[in-house]
Amino acid sequence: MRTHHCGDLNASVSGKEVVLAGWVDTVRISGKIGFLLLRDRSGIVQVFLDKKLAEANQYLKPQSVVLVKGLVNKRPENQVKKEMKTGAVEVAAASVEVLNMAETPLPIEIAEETTTGLDKRLDYRFLDVRRQRVTDIFTVRSKIYSTTVAFFEKEGFINIQTPKLTASGVESGAEEFKIPYFGKTASLAQSPQIYKQMFVVSGLEKVYELGTVFRAEKSHTTRHLTEFTGVDFEMGFIRDEHDVMTIVEKYFVYLITEIKKSCREELARLGVDLHVPKTIPKLSMHEARNILKKLGKIVPENEDLDADGEKMIAHYIKEKLQSDFVFMLDYPWEKRPFYHMRPEKDKKVTKSFDLVYNGVEIATGAQREHRLQVLEAQAMEKGIDLTLMPFYRDIFRYGCPPHGGVGLGLDRITEQMLQLGNIREAILLPRDPERLTP
Ligand code: ATP
Ligand code: MG
Repeated sequence: MRTHHCGDLNASVSGKEVVLAGWVDTVRISGKIGFLLLRDRSGIVQVFLDKKLAEANQYLKPQSVVLVKGLVNKRPENQVKKEMKTGAVEVAAASVEVLNMAETPLPIEIAEETTTGLDKRLDYRFLDVRRQRVTDIFTVRSKIYSTTVAFFEKEGFINIQTPKLTASGVESGAEEFKIPYFGKTASLAQSPQIYKQMFVVSGLEKVYELGTVFRAEKSHTTRHLTEFTGVDFEMGFIRDEHDVMTIVEKYFVYLITEIKKSCREELARLGVDLHVPKTIPKLSMHEARNILKKLGKIVPENEDLDADGEKMIAHYIKEKLQSDFVFMLDYPWEKRPFYHMRPEKDKKVTKSFDLVYNGVEIATGAQREHRLQVLEAQAMEKGIDLTLMPFYRDIFRYGCPPHGGVGLGLDRITEQMLQLGNIREAILLPRDPERLTP
């Protein structure tokens, strides 16, 4: 249909006939001539309409889809629009064919500085995406996804897809969505935890999955969704949880280097300056508590860091060590699931960690307890009887290597990388307790 994309036109094609197609961004008919700004995914170009075409298109509505044939002309130097990528040229239209007329009025304001609120924008997300900023966010997200896959493949992890329809979970205590299942009740997977351990043990040794995670969390925060994309990996034959952290660190060095390189224009338009981490600092919860105490915040021994505590620590680390990332170590046993391993010397903590990026948790990982007897005892302490979950228990019976892994959130990574302020900005169609449509 097209010979060129709008954003690709520059002085080197001037004098050429082109065929363009896209959406009408704005149309101005004044007196005897007209201009329309034509937009496709690549950018915007100005199209000049002579008297005949201006008259014929005087009722053309913004956001209509048109096919334009015309001649590319260099603009006189004093008319060059610097703010437009294609500012050095315009297209003198020979014909404008309306492929589909848009209705008016539009339900949201499709402008870079839109006045439409987030909720309404999400109601009409497909129109919201027509804004450059939103297209840029999802272009970066797509690159984060593909770079993540590339990283784990490069590191020798094997991709797995695990069931999302499950029997009731043994996992994290996060709320499950229960659904009817042929006379029984199934749960939507709130983590691939069991399965990723299962396939390390199976002999695949190192596995990863990018998959949907469901959590019936009735929280109304800027960091929780009820459906999100988990980035999970698990690896066998580790010495301890630090081997797992090494992979996480390597991943973020690779990811941010790659995004900086391949999304330069998007990042510039979004006003985001990314820093590739060197080594990610590690801070024990004990140290974190002391730092917070000095800052006037008391976190009891058996407590997690709350969102506020994470922010304060992140700020402290940024000031002291200029790092956007920090690993938090040794989370209290009371707050961690039964399958996190505990160090021999201190049973009150776990060999687990969180990764905080720009002040928000984006990952939790740990060495897992692989010795069945210890695991059973730990489960009992948490009031869980593993003999009631034979298929889970079996994983540890027939040769289970020491292993560990991490759960990250793709939506959170995107949000924190681009500093979007709300996780709903980082996912096309968010699901939360109030939203099931579109
Ligand atoms: P939080 O403390 O923020 O509620 P969590 O500790 O319950 O998170 P984990 O079970 O550790 O979450 O999940 C691993 C990762 O998955 C998190 O670090 C985060 O990146 C992502 N994640 C967890 N819950 C959500 C959610 N409701 N919405 C979006 N991402 C999530
Ligand atoms: Mg966590």
